[in-house]
Amino acid sequence: MTKIYFGNAGSGGLGNEKGIKHAGELGLDAMEVAFTYGVRMSNSMAKKIKKTAEKNNIRLSVHAPYYINLASKDRSKITASKKRILKSCERAHYMDASPVVFHAGFYQSRNHEDIYNMIKKQILDIKKKIRSKGWKVKLAPETTGKPSQFAGLDELLRLKRSAGCSICIDFAHLYARSQGNIDYNEIMKKLKHLSHIHCHFSGITYTTKGERSHKLMEKDFFMPLAKAIKKAKPKSMTIINESPDVFGDAVKMKKWFG
Ligand SMILES: [Zn+2]
Repeated sequence: MTKIYFGNAGSGGLGNEKGIKHAGELGLDAMEVAFTYGVRMSNSMAKKIKKTAEKNNIRLSVHAPYYINLASKDRSKITASKKRILKSCERAHYMDASPVVFHAGFYQSRNHEDIYNMIKKQILDIKKKIRSKGWKVKLAPETTGKPSQFAGLDELLRLKRSAGCSICIDFAHLYARSQGNIDYNEIMKKLKHLSHIHCHFSGITYTTKGERSHKLMEKDFFMPLAKAIKKAKPKSMTIINESPDVFGDAVKMKKWFG
């Protein structure tokens, strides 16, 4: 039996501690702490959050700030991006949260292979710093919702092998990236060997350029993925709900999965 940890992205405005308690009360299993616009948390607060999560049986992960581009044309922006990721990793270590999820960068109409190599180099460098600090945390670049943005699933799986990082699979993003031509069975085949699969899901609107916005989850939209998961039987997964109703839709997905 696949163990699935269903949870909410961010605290829905409650703050992390109340958000964790609320997730626990709702019978959820996970929460992704969102450093959306910056890491505004002390290490001592992070330790407090760790205890609250343990008490409520909530598995924590972290989403690093949105503004990250490890392939920027501007070197100072790469440096600032790495700082944001490392700050997220330090807090994640004290919260006992993993992985640290981030959107790695943009192609800006450059050669995809060059961007892949730039991002790989930065991830290896960040991993070196994490090791030297002794933080127990994994890095997880995420599948993005726009073809102009690094990266799709196959590219991320390649990065995982060559840089030894984790990955975050955002199924809603993959849906938008493929204009709705998604084959969940194919995707699960590529992922089921992983010891743990960290995912995001929600409803999604998109244009020919890819993702536009996250929307509420519907049963008809969730069930094809649920069926593919049951068929593939991976060991364990986390599914973080990123819809506008962060708690409600996580509860619904857990119920629908059965
Ligand atoms: Zn996501």
